[in-house]
Amino acid sequence: MAQIRVENLRKSFDQFTAVQGSNFTIPDGAFFALLGPSGCGKTTTLRMIAGLELPTEGKILLDDEDVTFRRAAARDIAFVFQLFALYPHFNVAENIAFPLKCQGMSRREIGERVQETARMLRIEHLLSSKTSKLSGGDRQRVALGRAMVRRPKAFLMDEPLGALDAEFRHLMCGELRDLHDRIKATTVYVTHDQLEAMSMADQIAIMNKGRVEQIGAPQEVYDRPASMFVADFIGSPSMNFLRFEGGLRSGDRAIRLEDANVAVPEVREDRASGSLVLGVRPEHVRFSDGAQVRGKVFGAEYLGTTQIVTVDTAHGRVAARLPSAATVRIGEAVGLEFQSERLTLFDAG
Ligand code: ADP
Ligand code: MG
Repeated sequence: MAQIRVENLRKSFDQFTAVQGSNFTIPDGAFFALLGPSGCGKTTTLRMIAGLELPTEGKILLDDEDVTFRRAAARDIAFVFQLFALYPHFNVAENIAFPLKCQGMSRREIGERVQETARMLRIEHLLSSKTSKLSGGDRQRVALGRAMVRRPKAFLMDEPLGALDAEFRHLMCGELRDLHDRIKATTVYVTHDQLEAMSMADQIAIMNKGRVEQIGAPQEVYDRPASMFVADFIGSPSMNFLRFEGGLRSGDRAIRLEDANVAVPEVREDRASGSLVLGVRPEHVRFSDGAQVRGKVFGAEYLGTTQIVTVDTAHGRVAARLPSAATVRIGEAVGLEFQSERLTLFDAG
């Protein structure tokens, strides 16, 4: 297994720059997600790591060895495009064995490797089955087996669960993470789905328009988003953004909203008036008489144990996650209070 490091990685197609100087290190054995909206440069980044695309600038290092100009086949990395692609006329064992046969490995060694892989994936009982007879989950396990059997230094996966329905995707997320915990292979997992990234990854790099905006553990990027883009992309429903007037001085511990002071995490630098935004997650808003912001209930969406109540205020529409037992009337005048230690300040520029 290996550490993967990219330094100032850039890729231009003619005039257009798809990846604008990425830097990150993926520790050996980590599950690393590249997350971002369609077109932000995830696949291009992954293809450069795989060796399928040559960077315009920058370096790729595997365990500190510069592999930037090494061809894909010599990098010893498995690229998993779509977990479902199997050879239908082969049985499970033959499917898994195929990459080793291509390498010219001995029959005995291939047999041992296939057994070991099947054991890891818990599909030993399926080895002689035809792949056309398998369930969706088992097909996916076999496809993974075919990637694992070569014992690559790392796995690269490009939206591998993209084609699956929500329920099955959720199940496979759990399995992929479970498998990762057993084999501890460095994995780079590309997705546009924040829930997939949040539920599986040790570290997430959030990309926007070719740039990595933040890298951190799921909890970290959720609690301390580095930009409004990250705050908006992670979490559902999204973070509320409330614009407010007035500047801030380094050391300030509160901002002024309507008639109330709202305590905020300590301000670290002076910030000019006019472009400041308070970020509040819906679960950190509650209804209160000693309110900081007033508004009128616009709507409520029932989600089982909680409900998302939207309130129109002078600062825009604010979503609050409340217990579903709370009674809420549409059009009702309410006061909102924010959980101060969980707020984030942004400069909207
Ligand atoms: P993602 O995987 O995040 O959806 P991609 O890495 O596939 O994004 O693409 C990033 C941007 O680069 C997109 O705007 C895409 O159109 C462009 N792009 C990708 N590959 C090529 C290519 N071979 N030629 C020209 N433009 C490309
Ligand atoms: Mg892509």
